[in-house]
Amino acid sequence: MPRSNRPKRSKREEPEELNVAAVRFGSRRTEVKRGVVYIVQPTSGRNAEDDKSWICPNCHLTINQGTNHLVAWDDIRGVDTRRHFHTTCWSKFQGTLL
Ligand SMILES: [Zn+2]
Repeated sequence: MPRSNRPKRSKREEPEELNVAAVRFGSRRTEVKRGVVYIVQPTSGRNAEDDKSWICPNCHLTINQGTNHLVAWDDIRGVDTRRHFHTTCWSKFQGTLL
């Protein structure tokens, strides 16, 4: 179990990279990486439960609640494989989800 890293950030931060495409916020899409089909869903993380934060599997840094990011999962194995990624990390990510 990952320790929950201190969430509480009073002001929400918008990473600049997000301006790039603002990624058609809210629209689910599919992407193929190394022959694996992933479902990718942009999210603000704002509907998550209080104090929720996630560890990005690409950079291993915390994604705080209220930060626009992506949730991706393996289309075959289903939502149990879903992970939260920084938007830019997802585009660099080439591995497979565990
Ligand atoms: Zn990341």
